Amino acid sequence: MFILLRQLATIRRDAHLSRGRPRSLALRHVDAGSCNGCEHELGAVSNPFHDIQRHGLDIVASPRHADILLVTGPVTTRMVGPLLTAYQAMPEPRVVAALGDCALGCNVLGDPTDVVGALEDVLSVDIRIPGCPPTPDAIAEHLLAALARS
Ligand code: SF4
Repeated sequence: MFILLRQLATIRRDAHLSRGRPRSLALRHVDAGSCNGCEHELGAVSNPFHDIQRHGLDIVASPRHADILLVTGPVTTRMVGPLLTAYQAMPEPRVVAALGDCALGCNVLGDPTDVVGALEDVLSVDIRIPGCPPTPDAIAEHLLAALARS
């Protein structure tokens, strides 16, 4: 009888936790022409300290599995095609996030001839994560806010 009561309590607790837990989101990262500073900080959000996977956010290899296209760097002429291909491969609804001041069009790297422009010049941007580079805390905060809104 005691074991049955304990099992019932565990089932109720798990049901309560799953009701309160937000959904998960899959992120596909595309480097459209960054200096790799943003990638360095993005890598840190998956380390054991920040551990965004614990909250239901994961970086995936294929855009076909992604909810959010996470773009770093200004969009270069070489990367505009692959960027649009990744976007079109995503299932609807597609969410686009600009990670770092270059993607946001702050012209950090100057005005090289092989840069098309900011991410907003190519795709509609839903999430803006400013900074050069943004800290792992800032990246995690913006992505978790997106998860909470989903
Ligand atoms: S925002 Fe700063 S760190 Fe990120 S790609 Fe541009 S120059 Fe590099």
